[in-house]
Amino acid sequence: MAEEKREFQAEVAKLLDIVVHSLYSNKEIFLRELVSNASDACDKLRYESQTQTHLAEGGGEFCIRIQIDKDAGTLTIADNGIGMNHDDLISNLGTIAKSGTAEFMSRLSGDAKKDTSLIGQFGVGFYSAFMVADTVTVFTRKAGETQGWRWESDGKGSFTIAEDDSAERGARMVLNLRDDAKEFLEAHRLRAIIKRYSDHIAIPVMLAEKDKDEETVNSASALWTRSKADITAEQYTEFYHHVAHAFDEPWLTVHYKAEGAIEYTGLLYVPGSKPFDLFQPERKNHLKLYVKRIFITDEAADLLPPYLRFLRGVVDSQDLPLNVSREMLQHNPVLAKIKTGLVKRVLSELKKKAEADAEAYAAFWENFGAVLKEGIYEDFERKTDIVALSRFQTTQAEGWTSLDEVVARMKDGQEAIYYATGDSVANLKKSPQLEGFIAKGVEVLLLTDPIDEFWVPSLGEWNGKKLISVTDGSADLSAVKADEQTEAAKPEAADNASLDTLIAALKLNLGDKVRDVRASDRLTNSAVCLVTDAGQMSLHLEKLLKAHKQ
Ligand code: ADP
Ligand code: MG
Repeated sequence: MAEEKREFQAEVAKLLDIVVHSLYSNKEIFLRELVSNASDACDKLRYESQTQTHLAEGGGEFCIRIQIDKDAGTLTIADNGIGMNHDDLISNLGTIAKSGTAEFMSRLSGDAKKDTSLIGQFGVGFYSAFMVADTVTVFTRKAGETQGWRWESDGKGSFTIAEDDSAERGARMVLNLRDDAKEFLEAHRLRAIIKRYSDHIAIPVMLAEKDKDEETVNSASALWTRSKADITAEQYTEFYHHVAHAFDEPWLTVHYKAEGAIEYTGLLYVPGSKPFDLFQPERKNHLKLYVKRIFITDEAADLLPPYLRFLRGVVDSQDLPLNVSREMLQHNPVLAKIKTGLVKRVLSELKKKAEADAEAYAAFWENFGAVLKEGIYEDFERKTDIVALSRFQTTQAEGWTSLDEVVARMKDGQEAIYYATGDSVANLKKSPQLEGFIAKGVEVLLLTDPIDEFWVPSLGEWNGKKLISVTDGSADLSAVKADEQTEAAKPEAADNASLDTLIAALKLNLGDKVRDVRASDRLTNSAVCLVTDAGQMSLHLEKLLKAHKQ
């Protein structure tokens, strides 16, 4: 077959342009990306060969080889992993399969450091090779297939693919380095980068200069299997960067070994900032599942409940068989027990943090509170724990407050916890429905996450106090004594006869549009407000559903 020329998908072309022209400040990460791809490729083959033993035959031990050729000006990164065939090359190195590209483009800030970190998050790592290379050539043969391929591109809009009989199993990426990237031909520089970013890669990374001896650069021991005392804070952070494709500092690191009925090791991180795709529906969880240090999958949906999907990290089980298939992982009792253990552990660590440092906890809450709250109605057994971990903005509290604190501040005669839902705290504070509550000094929760419409009714009450919406017709403040000065400022009540006439006129005019018109003492400045019947859908939920055409 002759050489075939293809255009990059438009998004890739645009991305490459940014990679080459804007992301120059932190070029060295290309090596981390390529080494991590090589390691993923070995993990994939190791996994596939559990059930199809012939796939990995004859390739020797898994390893990643980095070769420097100063005369040719090339740097080569080679692995003996799963490799790619013709169609894989086109779909993996010619398009961006993930849906977030448009969002990626819109998020670029012009600050090279931040933008580079976005590249990691969006999983477009391979293209970072073009930060240092003017041509990238990939020689590859897929495990189990006989035909090898050569893919080549200068990153300027198109690439070529041709058959290549020299390609060995796995992938070999040859980078023809740009003049301003020749530093990456220096062994000491490469050694330092690998140590920094890829030390914990579980397979050996070997470095060799042409005609010189090869050396193993990383320590190739899975970080989570070491004891806590032997791991530095930097190593924990680097590992987080690796597993999470992130560049921020983790907000929380939880590393423990569960022993007893079920044995596993968990190394879990709560990110320090909000990943861009937290609310995308296809998002499940991002924990990598290992069995006895062998990577199994990062798609074990049953490993974590969706409301903890912000967690990153690894879980390594002693109790699952090594040849566990993805199908076996569904409704698996071992996995179910691990999940229970993980949830318990994470929630208790969050509780500790919340008690130890309210300010730091608020930062976590602002990033992930809206996700965690999903658990209040999804996880019946844990809902009380999650409510206790939840923080709220209210008409009275400065910053974030807990529901227990709100209950402790309830007024004499106040029968329920009141809440208002809407799209922003600022708008809610202006709402006429709150006037009566503010006048009487009754604290109202200001709920602005869509999820609030679901967990609040499902919870129903807290500490024996009902949760009632301020738009609910049954919200009754008559037993609450108003503060003295607001009472004095209140306009004189209209006499009953003229009020009846007004109500009759309003009913006549509005007809079917309203169910009822009533006099109320919940307003102070506004003339009217809308309320719903007790137990009816809240006005904000109605608006949300309309916006989604439901
Ligand atoms: P990601 O690693 O997040 O999927 P990349 O841009 O780094 O994104 O890689 C794109 C895809 O190209 C990978 O998902 C993989 O399918 C393929 N790929 C990259 N490097 C290799 C390799 N060394 N061996 C096999 N496949 C690879
Ligand atoms: Mg990658």
